[in-house]
Amino acid sequence: MMSEIPGWHLNFDSAPFCNGSLHLGHVRNYALGDVRARWLRSRGVDVTHATAFDAFGLPNEMGARGSGISTDRYVARQARRIGRQMDRVGFSYDVPPRDYSRPGAYRWSQWLFLRMWDAGLVYRAERGVSWCPNCAEVISVTQADRSSCWRCNAHATWRRSTEWFVRSSAYFERLGRGLETLDGWSDRARRLARESIVRIRTLDPDGPGDWLLSRVRSWGTPLPMVECAACGIHPVDDATLPVRLKEHGGDGLGTCRGCGTRQPLVARTLDCFFDDAWCFEGAVRDVAPDENPFEAWRDRPPARVHFHAGHDSFAYLFVFRLIAHVLHDLGLSRRTEPIDWFQGHDVVTAGGKKMSKRHRNAPNLDTLLDREGAAVLRLSVLAGANPDKPMAWSDDALVRGRRFARTLQRLRDAARPVTPEQEAGVLQRIDGFFEAYRIASALDVLFSETERALKAGSTRPGRLAALLARWDLVVPPDMPAWNHGPSSVPSPSSYPEPPCPEPFDSTGS
Ligand SMILES: [Zn+2]
Ligand SMILES: [Zn+2]
Repeated sequence: MMSEIPGWHLNFDSAPFCNGSLHLGHVRNYALGDVRARWLRSRGVDVTHATAFDAFGLPNEMGARGSGISTDRYVARQARRIGRQMDRVGFSYDVPPRDYSRPGAYRWSQWLFLRMWDAGLVYRAERGVSWCPNCAEVISVTQADRSSCWRCNAHATWRRSTEWFVRSSAYFERLGRGLETLDGWSDRARRLARESIVRIRTLDPDGPGDWLLSRVRSWGTPLPMVECAACGIHPVDDATLPVRLKEHGGDGLGTCRGCGTRQPLVARTLDCFFDDAWCFEGAVRDVAPDENPFEAWRDRPPARVHFHAGHDSFAYLFVFRLIAHVLHDLGLSRRTEPIDWFQGHDVVTAGGKKMSKRHRNAPNLDTLLDREGAAVLRLSVLAGANPDKPMAWSDDALVRGRRFARTLQRLRDAARPVTPEQEAGVLQRIDGFFEAYRIASALDVLFSETERALKAGSTRPGRLAALLARWDLVVPPDMPAWNHGPSSVPSPSSYPEPPCPEPFDSTGS
């Protein structure tokens, strides 16, 4: 069993953008990650459960536009809001989510960029690039299909531009071979990862499939290069990092490594995927603010990483795996593959469409939590479908979640503190489902077995205690906002699409 592999495990949930509130698509991802973390802990595994805030990037910049406050303050406010929602739903993170838009964090993105520049893995070139006129931004082939913008679906155009690229074409072969070693990934995940490599390779019309790393937007890690009057395009001196954003006191200048004078920075930022790519290093415990996380990571035994994300996240996974191979080549990591177990899930749908703020089919999470409680919400989403299937959010799903929650409450009322039974076949069956990441199947058996045990009149208190221990993985007993029953709750259809509480509250995924 994977969870009995010794060593430190990192259970990492893909990071949310900080441009709105969470919705049920996020709840599915984070609830699955949370059940996994609790399952691993229950097996005695040394696990850190973590996520990050995806605080850079165009979605956040667009979210801030029109809010009347700076992007920096807007993102901080949304991160607090998302953090509160994560608490309400009972996610058991061991460390506070890291925000990569802080100077203390993007300093290390800049440091890594410079190591890649020094190693010849980053280059500058004039190329035809895909351009979204609506977002006024270049689009990387990792983020677009041939004709439209990943963010807003606007028709993309082409323009010549001098940009910065990662030599990812040199890694295609190894990334393909690396997939063969990932036996903790499902066949589906490996197939999707392979398809994404092929797609990225073939979409690029006049480059060799190298990753377009630079962005023209201002809200991102400043590219640590200067246009020096004496030295030309030249790296910033390491000792002067971070090169700060204007919001953080930056003046648009950097100290040239060649001549030591202050010179204008290249007017580019880094794709936020680049910051995300070292999230696993960022989640490492006990890294002091000034400590280089890459060196800390290199000198410690690597974690076994469980990663929770949608099956549509292969653009991210491509970048994560690419950067892991790069870190290995730079002598900064002992491993080449960053994710041992990709625990992907399908989408949450509503009205036949993927749930997203963009489609305006996401019920308001805070309202749902106020009325239903976190237990019903977790159960509705998790019991609705196993992770590899789409989960259709509907009245039926909510009714089912309430039914499961009522049975759990009856069990909690009946179960006494006794030593749980260990050996029963049905418990092994339930545990087998948890281990195989089939949470809805585990809940199905758990529900029917609990009903059976309760009807039998609690004659086997050890059985009840054992069942309750499994329920506690899915609905933690210390969770706030417990909903006791159906008597006071409205019919499920009374959650209409809410008005956006923020001007540009448009979380897309
Ligand atoms: Zn766009
Ligand atoms: Zn210079």
